Amino acid sequence: MILVLKENYDKEQLENLKNWLQSQNIDIHMSEGSHTTIMGLVGDTSSLDIDMLSTLDIVERAQRIQEPYKNANRKFHPDDTVVTVGDVKIGGGNFAVIAGPCSVESEEQLCLIAESVKKSGASMLRGGAFKPRTSPYAFQGLRSKGIELLLAAKKRTGLPIVTEIMDISHIPLFEDVDVIQVGARNMQNFELLKELGHLNKPILLKRGLSATLSELLMSAEYIMAGGNGNVILCERGIRTFETATRNTLDLSAIPMLRSMTHLPIVVDPSHATGISKLVKPMAVAAAAAGADGLMIEVHNDPKKALCDGAQSLTCEQFDDMKKAVDAVLPYACR
Ligand code: PEP
Ligand code: MN
Repeated sequence: MILVLKENYDKEQLENLKNWLQSQNIDIHMSEGSHTTIMGLVGDTSSLDIDMLSTLDIVERAQRIQEPYKNANRKFHPDDTVVTVGDVKIGGGNFAVIAGPCSVESEEQLCLIAESVKKSGASMLRGGAFKPRTSPYAFQGLRSKGIELLLAAKKRTGLPIVTEIMDISHIPLFEDVDVIQVGARNMQNFELLKELGHLNKPILLKRGLSATLSELLMSAEYIMAGGNGNVILCERGIRTFETATRNTLDLSAIPMLRSMTHLPIVVDPSHATGISKLVKPMAVAAAAAGADGLMIEVHNDPKKALCDGAQSLTCEQFDDMKKAVDAVLPYACR
């Protein structure tokens, strides 16, 4: 439930109300916007009398919230969340491009790509060390060695690194990773999400292959409920009946999520389409539709990539895509 307070509400009456709500085991999240103060009431609000609360002197309006995500809900937090990663900001008008290979393959490969995408204006480096592959016989990633190589590339380029976690037991290996990615297949790995909620580190949460936006936000809620509010959402395409593309990119998720949540929204056109020539148009479209950032797979030699070569841009193609995205950003719908 939320209570919207009247402008110039009486502070003493607010204290009395807070004390009473706390005695009913209700947690209170205060949100002070420039014009409006909102109280988010979290807990079992079913026993609260909404009519009684609406008639209090200091209350403008009381409203029951249908959506069960409270921390991620824009209603409780009207201003955009800005996630900070080193010197990089994402959200609230800050646009960030995360680029790099699907998988970390070798030191040369990663450094070459990292230096090139940095030159083109990427603000973070991605690279899979632990890879979720459909086939157990496919390349599974360099695992902890991959994280070491990412850290070395970070040292060399200064780019913060983003890499995927697949299992709770691997958390210690991610200590120096800047952003931990939860992949589509783990979006509802609730035990993993709960553990990540106890870290003080940004989490990039990808939408599950068949997850609704509400389910995506409930997964974000798992992380936030543990105290970690640094969640970046990622639309990466969903499964539909269409088979011409790897997935179907749901661009309407951008403005829809924008109204549902205050969290930053990144789009991954690489996994969404699976086809490198579709990446630039979809990246430009995502930027125009108001995304806060992009995640793009880039490889120095896509034909020889150990994973997802067909959707990877060459370094030159990434440079060209970045310029097209930059050109459209001033006209983005926000
Ligand atoms: C990835 O980004 O490397 C990845 C595996 O993506 P997704 O979880 O979206 O399939
Ligand atoms: Mn990939």
